[in-house]
Amino acid sequence: MSGKETPGTGTVDTATKKVFVKTYGCQMNVYDSQRMTDALAADGYCATDVIEDADLVLLNTCHIREKAAEKVYSELGRIRQLKEERAKDGRETLIGVSGCVAQAEGREILRRAPAVDLVIGPQTYHRLPAVVKRARGGEKIVETEYAIEDKFAHLPHPEGRIVRSRGVTAFLTVQEGCDKFCTFCVVPYTRGAEVSRPVSQIVAEAERLAASGVREVTLLGQNVNAWHGEGADGREWGLGELLFRLAEIPGIDRLRYTTSHPRDMDDALIAAHRDLDKLMPYLHLPVQAGSDRILKAMNRRHTAKEYLRLIERIRAARPDIAMSGDFIVGFPGETEEDFAETMRLVRAVGYAQAFSFKYSPRPGTPGADMADHVPEAVKGERLQRLQALLTEQQRDFARSLVGTEIDLLLEKPGREAGQLVGRSPWLQPVIVDDAAGRIGDIVKVRITRAGPNSLFADPVGEIGAPGCAEATKGVYV
Ligand code: SAM
Ligand code: SF4
Repeated sequence: MSGKETPGTGTVDTATKKVFVKTYGCQMNVYDSQRMTDALAADGYCATDVIEDADLVLLNTCHIREKAAEKVYSELGRIRQLKEERAKDGRETLIGVSGCVAQAEGREILRRAPAVDLVIGPQTYHRLPAVVKRARGGEKIVETEYAIEDKFAHLPHPEGRIVRSRGVTAFLTVQEGCDKFCTFCVVPYTRGAEVSRPVSQIVAEAERLAASGVREVTLLGQNVNAWHGEGADGREWGLGELLFRLAEIPGIDRLRYTTSHPRDMDDALIAAHRDLDKLMPYLHLPVQAGSDRILKAMNRRHTAKEYLRLIERIRAARPDIAMSGDFIVGFPGETEEDFAETMRLVRAVGYAQAFSFKYSPRPGTPGADMADHVPEAVKGERLQRLQALLTEQQRDFARSLVGTEIDLLLEKPGREAGQLVGRSPWLQPVIVDDAAGRIGDIVKVRITRAGPNSLFADPVGEIGAPGCAEATKGVYV
């Protein structure tokens, strides 16, 4: 990580270079931002949380709902001012846009925001260091062609100390893209066709995470349970088999995955929920709507009844599983009766957590051209009713845990001194006294209270007695 920058020689003094990455959107973008930071680290860039210090500002964007692009353009306006300020002090600042807005808008970004130096799509970010180098030479670059080479095979592995600094939980993308073409969704256009990473690559990455102290891995994919690949036994594996393999890695004590499509919940995956203690009893399984007419218009390829039947089978396999989901209200043509069916489905399932959105027409998707768009005010009012019900269910689920003993993975210090925050098996934040153990420990706690967004707990038994932190390091299950 040394060398002096001499324009024209190609030698770059990157030792003092800093990159600031702002991430929008889902966990997959969080993972991508980390991998881009890793790629740049191998080229001598250190990550910074202070945008004013950054030689490279990268916006890793999301395009899933309306106004995403507009938000990015207004942020770019602010960053342009920063670039001008730094230029007055003789400091160069590169501005980059990556992610799905980069993929969707491409060259338009350079036209509307000329201060931007590089635009790079989600499939090509392994080329980021080379692109940055060219941009530093004064070139404006748009790199949004889908790469032929395997991006993941070309990305450097982060150093152990970097992995450790990110905590005891980690994301691991196993699948990208989507072939489902739900009529509301831009993902098949911005992320491209479904691609699964090979087993050996995933296992190696999980082993590296475990070696650096990661105890919980969440497998990611736009359609994660569509993952498939050739297993160690030469057979075609699905996500269920992959989870069994990952559970064998010493040090990995908790596994999760997101986001799943109901059509891809196969028997092996349901069996994994039944047989694999390390697989947490929490499943994010979006349904989007409860009306078959709307599900058909959305091209979801399942009915409400099929979804409910699927949940019955999953619950029969794993009775303590908590369900989570995504909902869209106000899809074109949605009547009050269609919406009532969504409310009925929510009551029938009983969600521990859920995300709900007003339908946002995305240019280029079939939904945007459908007739009978629902007025914004109606969408807003339906969303309020749905969210009130989902919030009530979330609160009821949290309250049902008061008095029970659970295993808690301690993740980070709490907001207040003397506190630690961990995650329950059902992904809820749980606050405990820091005498409960040390970050990375899985400890037994008793839930004492349910707040609006987190649970509160006391350590159980001897674990966590004051002054015992050293002795309590380890697993308590
Ligand atoms: N692959 C997942 C699935 O099959 O449900 C969803 C991925 S998408 C990134 C996350 C969520 O954003 C979706 O489940 C949906 O609820 C929401 N979403 C996607 N497109 C939307 C749109 N045009 N308007 C509103 N919400 C949308
Ligand atoms: Fe989008 Fe998910 Fe449908 Fe794929 S399955 S098109 S990612 S909502």
